[in-house]
Amino acid sequence: MFENLSDRLERSFKMLKGEGKITEINVAETLKDIRRALLDADVNFKIAKKFTDDVKEKALGQEVLTAVKPGQLMVKIVKDELASLMGGTFADIELKGKPAVILMSGLQGSGKTTFSGKLANMLKKKKGRHPMLVAGDVYRPAAIEQLKVLGEQIGVPVYTEEGNMDPVKIAKAAIQEAKAKGYDVVIVDTAGRLAVDEQMMNEIAAIKSAINPDEILFVVDSMTGQDAVNTAKEFNDRLDFDGVVLTKLDGDTRGGAALSIRAVVEKPIKFVGTGEKLEALDVFHPDRMADRILGMGDIVSLVEKAQEQFDEEEAQRLQKKLAKNTFNFNDFLKQIAQIKKMGSLKDVVGMIPGMGKAIKNMDIDDDAFKHIEAIIYSMTAEERENPAIINGGRRKRIANGSGTDIQEVNRLLKQFDETRKMMRMVSQGKNVQRMMAGMQ
Ligand code: GDP
Repeated sequence: MFENLSDRLERSFKMLKGEGKITEINVAETLKDIRRALLDADVNFKIAKKFTDDVKEKALGQEVLTAVKPGQLMVKIVKDELASLMGGTFADIELKGKPAVILMSGLQGSGKTTFSGKLANMLKKKKGRHPMLVAGDVYRPAAIEQLKVLGEQIGVPVYTEEGNMDPVKIAKAAIQEAKAKGYDVVIVDTAGRLAVDEQMMNEIAAIKSAINPDEILFVVDSMTGQDAVNTAKEFNDRLDFDGVVLTKLDGDTRGGAALSIRAVVEKPIKFVGTGEKLEALDVFHPDRMADRILGMGDIVSLVEKAQEQFDEEEAQRLQKKLAKNTFNFNDFLKQIAQIKKMGSLKDVVGMIPGMGKAIKNMDIDDDAFKHIEAIIYSMTAEERENPAIINGGRRKRIANGSGTDIQEVNRLLKQFDETRKMMRMVSQGKNVQRMMAGMQ
């Protein structure tokens, strides 16, 4: 799903690699590429333009924290904008009525009947509801048969009236029957046509006014791209529906419908169909979908965590200390504490794209810093401030005090010394804050 779009977006972010901050000039190419990627994914032109304009405004307005690289910041901004384009937050269906009545709308072949079965199944299994299905597609005996088969598979009754060609009457009678028999959700499947036509619209509008549904869902095949968006608009103008169901997202869909439909009809996507099987149904979470489109949900959380934890003032202070070569073990301890605040080491490492899978079965010691901390805590205040005074005798004492051995103490002192030298060189030359950010 959306593979092409994901790859293209990922490539566009790479252009910002190595840039110190986001500027009007260096972001221009990235934005152009994002827009092209969206257009190639069959996103409506106006929406793609507005999207990149919004991203640009946010990117330039953002204070670039030293803990976050511009490429990563762009990923986060684009992710947030994608989620907001798709509605921002999760929108549930309305099931208050007694019984709650749900009316399906959409073209023939969009997946209405399949979705009706999937929804009944989900409501029964996950919400403990007692649904009833209604066969309102009176023109196609095969459609009625299909619904009956689905109903049997999931153990949900299907209301049909043989010979009755009036879907309005059938729907009304079905609701009465549901009331009498204690079913609390009535799902009305309706007839679709291959294209929007007046008779179909009149019919479904008549059903709507006769049964006054709690929820009207518009079902659409996501593979049809911009056609899906146009059809949605026509149905919405006529029915003022409550939500969209995007089917066939398991196919080779480019993503255009998922990304444009909300902005065009201003109605939320509520479900996505991801296969022909009855279980292949997901409720729609815009933020999770944005994660999936970018294929880098993990890095988004990592950036968020770094943003939460990074202390700009502390970074400035450290930079000064490094320049003056007064970075000591107390500063080192603070650095460790900051990294630890980001969460368990395994979690933090796992958020780096590609690392999650690689370390899944690995045993990463959450106490990796424990020895280092113990060694530093065993130093006197003077030793921490001024590591140069730690001679052989002191090393032995520190090793004993921390329950480690002298080799470990030596190793830490050597590493500390080398790190300090390297950082000093960098701080005299380039931007040390960026390097520190990279280390986190
Ligand atoms: P209707 O005419 O709107 O009632 O559409 P159907 O429910 O009969 O679906 C048309 C075809 O699309 C059927 O072959 C379904 O199996 C298939 N279909 C429906 N939803 C999905 C889905 O989410 N993924 C895939 N791959 N196929 C689907």
